[in-house]
Amino acid sequence: MGYRIGTGVDFHQLAEGRDLWIGGVKIPFHKGSVGHSDADVLLHAICDALLGAASLGDIGEHFPDTDNTYKNIDSKILLRKTVELIRGKSYAIVNIDSTLCLQEPRIRPYVSQMQEVIAEISGLSVDDVSIKATTTEKMGFVGRQEGLMAYATVLLERTV
Ligand SMILES: [Zn+2]
Repeated sequence: MGYRIGTGVDFHQLAEGRDLWIGGVKIPFHKGSVGHSDADVLLHAICDALLGAASLGDIGEHFPDTDNTYKNIDSKILLRKTVELIRGKSYAIVNIDSTLCLQEPRIRPYVSQMQEVIAEISGLSVDDVSIKATTTEKMGFVGRQEGLMAYATVLLERTV
């Protein structure tokens, strides 16, 4: 059976005056993620996990932050393009598991909306898109709310 596993991790700084996009959902908060694109840490980790599982390099290679095409781009577009790359290599996604690390705000109220967004783009059911969240118990850069991070693991299955 042709199964492939992949992992992804991403980090962004948090700053006043930026929007907070996580998992394709805009979350009301006084700080947002800093980045060239909309800086959606969860979608970026998932893109990297997908690319990794298919041995297609990483997100920075496909969508370089030196390219103005991707300035402030909606990361849902990047995920959609990544899913196309995976399909082009004859893989289908089996499931996605992910963990967000941030101190504030509370993410749980937004998880089902994020699952729906990611499932729709990935051609999965919401049950195949897991999103967990944890704080770091106020330790480190996450605890000080200087930044946030996300991990993702995906399983791909060969379609031919
Ligand atoms: Zn990122």
